[in-house]
Amino acid sequence: MSNYTDHILDVVVLGAGGAGLRAALGCSEQGLKTACVSKVYPTRSHTVAAQGGIGAALGNMGEDSWQWHMFDTVKGSDWLGDQDSIEYLCSNAVDSIVELEHYGMPFSRTDNGKIYQRPFGGHMTNNGKGELANRACAAADRTGHALLHTLYQQSLKNDVQFFNEYYAIDLLKDNNDEICGLLALSIEDGTMHRFIAKMTILATGGYGRIFQSSTSAHICTGDGAGIALRAGLPLSDMEFIQFHPTGIYGVGVLISEAARGEGGVLKNNEGTRFMLEYAPNAKDLAARDVISRFISKEISAGRGCGPNKDYINLHLEHLDPDMLAKRLPGISESVKAFCGRDISKEPIPVIPTVHYCMGGIPTNFKAEVLKPNSENSEEVCPGLMAIGEAACASVHGANRLGTNALAELVVFGRGAAIQAGQVIDKSESNKMPSDHSTQEIINRLHSVKNNTGDISVGELREKMQKTVQKRFGVYRESEALSLGNQELSDLYQDLKHVKIVDKSDVFNTDLIEALELHNLMEVAGSVGISAEQRTESRGAHAREDYPERDDENWLKHTLAWKQNDTFEISHRPVRMTTLSNQISVIQPQVRIY
Ligand SMILES: Cc1cc2nc3c(=O)[nH]c(=O)nc-3n(C[C@H](O)[C@H](O)[C@H](O)COP(=O)(O)OP(=O)(O)OC[C@H]3O[C@@H](n4cnc5c(N)ncnc54)[C@H](O)[C@@H]3O)c2cc1C
Repeated sequence: MSNYTDHILDVVVLGAGGAGLRAALGCSEQGLKTACVSKVYPTRSHTVAAQGGIGAALGNMGEDSWQWHMFDTVKGSDWLGDQDSIEYLCSNAVDSIVELEHYGMPFSRTDNGKIYQRPFGGHMTNNGKGELANRACAAADRTGHALLHTLYQQSLKNDVQFFNEYYAIDLLKDNNDEICGLLALSIEDGTMHRFIAKMTILATGGYGRIFQSSTSAHICTGDGAGIALRAGLPLSDMEFIQFHPTGIYGVGVLISEAARGEGGVLKNNEGTRFMLEYAPNAKDLAARDVISRFISKEISAGRGCGPNKDYINLHLEHLDPDMLAKRLPGISESVKAFCGRDISKEPIPVIPTVHYCMGGIPTNFKAEVLKPNSENSEEVCPGLMAIGEAACASVHGANRLGTNALAELVVFGRGAAIQAGQVIDKSESNKMPSDHSTQEIINRLHSVKNNTGDISVGELREKMQKTVQKRFGVYRESEALSLGNQELSDLYQDLKHVKIVDKSDVFNTDLIEALELHNLMEVAGSVGISAEQRTESRGAHAREDYPERDDENWLKHTLAWKQNDTFEISHRPVRMTTLSNQISVIQPQVRIY
């Protein structure tokens, strides 16, 4: 057997984004021996790029309540969200923000010193009937940056052990097939490490990089999802991919909804504010799936801007330049850098761009990973939790509202730590990984590294990304979906022919990218199969051939399981229950903004 180093722990957290850091911090604060493993230095995780805000009904700048926040989130999810999880999110968001403030997060402030809050898409008052809510707590337009650095310094202060630039390959299991940690490779020197823990928390972020154009960082490769599938666990609701209405045309860089929250408007080539017609109440701040669809419609109808009529203009030039400099400094810089334009003088060319993955590893509201079976759709997988964008709790259902992702990171990161504290017995000895489980992972690593083929990682990744981009866009229909799935299944076979040129152990990025590609391909396959079988339109899944939402047949979660080289689909009911008597279940309604 190959050499490796063992680390015996109470908790191993995989991922050092907002979710992973909040969980690791919470575990360590309770005296649990906690390690946090990350393939990049923690503050380079994608959370650092989050711009517009973190949602919580503080009511600092107008009346608000967590019940209204819950109503908006259920409606935003197109009723696919689990209502107990959504209640947990919205009712705990306020305390989680106050806690962040006490940890030292540098929020923007109102004139009287309270946390500044701006409007954001789909967040309304009075159960959707009132005005836009000021609910997005912000640190200018660099909220994720402030959040991640705050949590990292608190984690250091509280003695979380960091293993930075370690790439996790797979989960370890004991002789009874129970999960007991993970195996990771040190990118710096190629040594192998077994992180043996009583609780493993997956916080690996999203998988936007299955698409060619995405606002996500290049490291968002769905590693947690690949790891879960290989451990025999399902992925949930993978068909729901969020297109953000305003990615910079041709570049894919995000222009946060904060731009519209501060008064920005969308116009077509006739200079018309088309959202006034499509969403008379919420206007340019309707939910993202709705705006992305209408932008696509305007472009298809020949009303796009520019020489090829293939984008829409986002106007900020009518706003006060001092406000732009104070509230949207990051956006001003991005537009200058990527379009050479001054946002106080010219509009920004934008187009819907892949932004967020609603699907992921299914969990309950306590962040415990589900392994549903025919008798029990809520069966949990012992020793494993998932949080953040990697997980599907499911608080976003078929469409996420802006600011709810950052809220999810801290609420469920904190919740996972509380739950871990309750189930872990510190005096008990650890379950040990079996030789078989260890060797299986090492064998897979060796086979990827020593593969001799004729296609490079970059070539295959590009082919896969082009297919996903072309076949699984804002609008979908059966022929394109079926073609896309056939193409992906052919490309999957090519994984066997990927060659790794670099055979060294030191910073072998060729090898790491190959391992990431394996995960990307698994994820892409599950997205395609999940999308093809859902014959309705709901949230971000818009089928031209099935334009209506169909609650009778489809008010249920999709589960995609890996079986040999293909996927099997099963379903799980949406949890239409609440946790307290402070709110009742929100019954499905027609979704208009
Ligand atoms: C440009 C942009 C702007 C956004 N703005 C907002 C916003 O304003 N408000 C909002 O609510 N949401 C926003 N979002 C969404 C939100 O930022 C993300 O959903 C969230 O930050 C994800 O956090 P995470 O902790 O789940 O994962 P990430 O922050 O993506 O972190 C993942 C971690 O997992 C580690 N990892 C992954 N795989 C492995 C592996 N195999 N081995 C070791 N480590 C691994 C990585 O190193 C990293 O530390 C935005 C997203 C983007 C892309």
